[in-house]
Amino acid sequence: MIFLHTNDLPAEFVRDITNSVAIDTETMGLMPHRDRLCLAQFSLGDGDAHLVQFFEYSNAVNIKNLLADTKTLKIFHYARFDIMMLYKYLGSMTKNVYCTKIASKLSRTYAQHHSLLDLCKEILGVEISKEQTCTDWGCKQLTEEQKEYAANDVLYLHQLKERLDVVLRREGRFELAQNCFNFLETRVKLDLMAGETYDIFSHGS
Ligand code: MN
Repeated sequence: MIFLHTNDLPAEFVRDITNSVAIDTETMGLMPHRDRLCLAQFSLGDGDAHLVQFFEYSNAVNIKNLLADTKTLKIFHYARFDIMMLYKYLGSMTKNVYCTKIASKLSRTYAQHHSLLDLCKEILGVEISKEQTCTDWGCKQLTEEQKEYAANDVLYLHQLKERLDVVLRREGRFELAQNCFNFLETRVKLDLMAGETYDIFSHGS
């Protein structure tokens, strides 16, 4: 089932989260200072998706607390972008993060592609559509196609994490992945400060 909410998650939903939640965002584009956060999607991995449409950001108390809560694991695909947008627009830094894209890049080193579409297809045998990627997420009334697309981006992250963790452990990269997840907060602050190409580790001037 897909549930649609406005400006925040219901308190009951947040209260019932036991240990992990999958999260994704939709925005007006890829530039944080230009393109606003339109939607945040949440799933407990139980086949349901909760979509939160933002018309303003000051009332998202339940989401802000959830993001800041260190006990709940937040599973993203390309967490770097979502965490940045959530931090920029809600002012809450996401703690306790897992990123399926990083996990894939550190475990499936034989693979050329690490998009959510690729992971769902190869690991789970599920075909998700990416047709609505370039759509107006800022519109007042989301279409059924938009809602379904937005939901799909969070419905499979728990299953992917489970499968990727097996390979990370097998290849001895679990701790390395964990350290990369932990670094995301710093990376996001650098991205907002100086852009994603700003690389303090590179040798070049
Ligand atoms: Mn998405």
